[in-house]
Amino acid sequence: RGRVTHFDAEVLATRGSQTELRARHHMERRLRQAIAAGELRLHYQPLAELASNRIVGAEALARWEDAELGPVSPVVFIKLAEETGLIIDLGRWALNTACQEAATWPMFESADGIRRRMKVTVNVSAVQLSQPSFVRDVAEALVDSGLLPRTLCLEITETAVIGDMHATAKNLQEIRDLGVTVALDDFGTGYSSLTMLRDLPADVVKIDKSFIDKIAVEASTDSVLARLVIETAHSLGMSVCAEGVETNEQAERLADMGCDTLQGWLISKPLAGSEAFTEWLPTAVLPEALGPRR
Ligand code: C2E
Ligand code: MG
Ligand code: MG
Ligand code: MG
Repeated sequence: RGRVTHFDAEVLATRGSQTELRARHHMERRLRQAIAAGELRLHYQPLAELASNRIVGAEALARWEDAELGPVSPVVFIKLAEETGLIIDLGRWALNTACQEAATWPMFESADGIRRRMKVTVNVSAVQLSQPSFVRDVAEALVDSGLLPRTLCLEITETAVIGDMHATAKNLQEIRDLGVTVALDDFGTGYSSLTMLRDLPADVVKIDKSFIDKIAVEASTDSVLARLVIETAHSLGMSVCAEGVETNEQAERLADMGCDTLQGWLISKPLAGSEAFTEWLPTAVLPEALGPRR
């Protein structure tokens, strides 16, 4: 039999017939083994600060390449992990690994002239966030790695917190009390965005790529909404990161709108590991739109 391609794996993981169910169980078994054997990796996508024209950190993105299944998209295996409870172990591994690796990253001089360490942001699933042990897991990851709390940011997706808003908000507040920052990921893709801004303690809003795609189109609904999100976030004391920035035009529009940080292929694709990220840093060529406003 031939290799299961990426596409097949995706289809198999999401449909429900007998064969498909078996394939899903197979994938679940492989994922469980991969987590236990330490076969997952973290890739890092740089985050660029507009005002200072500097790289200020990176987002950790999980990668799984299975010997039989080939590379499986995180969209597929994270969903599977959430549905099977494997996300608890996977998430703890990602948190610990990201903290350990980021503790080796260089310092940089920020816009205010202070030397800081590069930030690392880690995606956190609602399933993790609802665990009573989650705050302790975060505290332990910091102690074990020696990373300063303010160097860590946790990304929470909007759809993920719709469940138990109260419990989530409580855990998030405790995490922020540790000094860790919180970002609302994929902002604008759910249906309760403004309520979220009111009810969830967060430091950063990440505007979803789907809004950024059409941001350079003059007076498009998306550019109006992006401006609104940036202004609202700022007036509530939060900063704004734009996801999936691919063109200079988008970066320029975002700079004009007062967006704080950019992430996307324009800066860099996710780099294949912590070392690849630190090796890339001195070679980084940042786009025109970044840098002190003239
Ligand atoms: P996300 O957190 O919103 O991450 C951004 C996604 O957009 C990443 O996809 C990234 O590779 C992609 N991306 C970044 N810039 C660009 C761009 O300019 N153009 C395009 N087309 N894409 C861009 P990726 O790595 O496939 O991850 C997908 C999702 O899987 C993530 O979305 C996140 O929700 C989830 N994920 C990944 N790693 C973890 C993890 O360790 N834990 C949890 N809970 N979720 C994770
Ligand atoms: Mg994210
Ligand atoms: Mg995102
Ligand atoms: Mg997104």
